[in-house]
Amino acid sequence: MTALSRRGFLGVSTLGLAGCAARRVPLGTAPGVNGAPHLARVRVAPERVIRTIVGLRPYRPGGFVVGAQKLDTKTVIHNYGHGGAGITLSWGTAQLAADEARSTGAGARECAVLGCGVVGLSTARVLQERGYTPTIYAREMPPATTSNVAGGLWEPVSLFDLPRVTPAFRRQFAEAARIAFRRYQSLAGEQYAVRWRALYSLGTEHAHTAPSADNPMSDVESLYPEARQLQTGEHPFDVPFAYRRQTMVIEPAIYLAALIRDFQSAGGKIVIRDFASAADLMGLKEGLLFNCTGLGARALFGDEELTPIRGQLVFLLPQPEVDYCTLGPGGTYMFPRQDGIVLGGSFDRGEWNLDPDPAITERILRENGVLFREMKG
Ligand SMILES: Cc1cc2nc3c(=O)[nH]c(=O)nc-3n(C[C@H](O)[C@H](O)[C@H](O)COP(=O)(O)OP(=O)(O)OC[C@H]3O[C@@H](n4cnc5c(N)ncnc54)[C@H](O)[C@@H]3O)c2cc1C
Repeated sequence: MTALSRRGFLGVSTLGLAGCAARRVPLGTAPGVNGAPHLARVRVAPERVIRTIVGLRPYRPGGFVVGAQKLDTKTVIHNYGHGGAGITLSWGTAQLAADEARSTGAGARECAVLGCGVVGLSTARVLQERGYTPTIYAREMPPATTSNVAGGLWEPVSLFDLPRVTPAFRRQFAEAARIAFRRYQSLAGEQYAVRWRALYSLGTEHAHTAPSADNPMSDVESLYPEARQLQTGEHPFDVPFAYRRQTMVIEPAIYLAALIRDFQSAGGKIVIRDFASAADLMGLKEGLLFNCTGLGARALFGDEELTPIRGQLVFLLPQPEVDYCTLGPGGTYMFPRQDGIVLGGSFDRGEWNLDPDPAITERILRENGVLFREMKG
């Protein structure tokens, strides 16, 4: 999806939830002195920037691929192309990929997972839980993967172009989202750095609307607790439209390190290996392979639909008192993490350049600067 549709997606599915939200104080909304919600102000200033990073979202207009392919003597189960939602969906597509292996009748317990990003690691963990003995083969491992660049919000965005969606993808997507949302809840806490946060979607022109029924995003709306449109006075932002719901932020550096520990303490091995082509895979001793190479699948398996959506993040000094996230207004966002305040909001399709662009940094700082400077209270 484009930045525009990221905003469009933040729709309303509040029926039945609004009353529940009104009775309790949601996360990230400790009451202020006058009963209005108090949110700590993010201090946006160029001198507070600690780093700027760039990554390439592995995007396919038709959505991620989970499916089996016979390659000479090998069975390959693909699990790649998660766009801006690889952290979000990883546990779900991992489970679908493991189910796919079972349905192909591949009996071997020894298998290879290609890739050591969030998708490869989650797939390897699900396989271990099902009694397989996977070895991970990867060119890079954390912290050098795209998965380490992710902002880490649980939200399926930049994942498909609506006209390209098939009913089969839609079914897989809905199932993967449901599985992953549930699995992350079981990891909430400091050990995995998975934290519930209030997410404020802010607009200047119109209120958020629910995704239409033909949009797969409508299948995940009901997952979010305490989702509702806020009235003026219920939030401190100087915008006419605010929509709040609860979701999770997953902090990649801590989370991926924890997954590696889990994988290794269950006996898993990681081998650093660069595969130049699919022919190279024939040299592996395993007959059952899980392709979790992200954007790498384009060259490795010739999937030309796979294309990067370049994204740039600007990190500010950490502010532990900030315990909520914002999306918008405009295309920018803010997530609080232990390793810094993440400011983002760039989506450049087809762009491979990994150098930070000073103009994007300036825009991200400027737009977020205005938002937090004009906060009330
Ligand atoms: C700026 C930005 C913000 C993002 N924010 C979010 C967010 O908030 N929430 C979210 O859910 N997602 C987010 N994402 C998307 C997320 O980062 C990706 O969807 C995810 O990292 C994809 O994971 P992966 O494991 O498929 O790929 P990767 O992390 O890229 O891992 C691929 C692995 O395959 C290996 N590999 C590739 N080719 C080969 C080869 N030929 N031989 C051997 N090994 C190979 C690599 O070395 C690596 O180990 C964001 C991405 C960016 C860039």
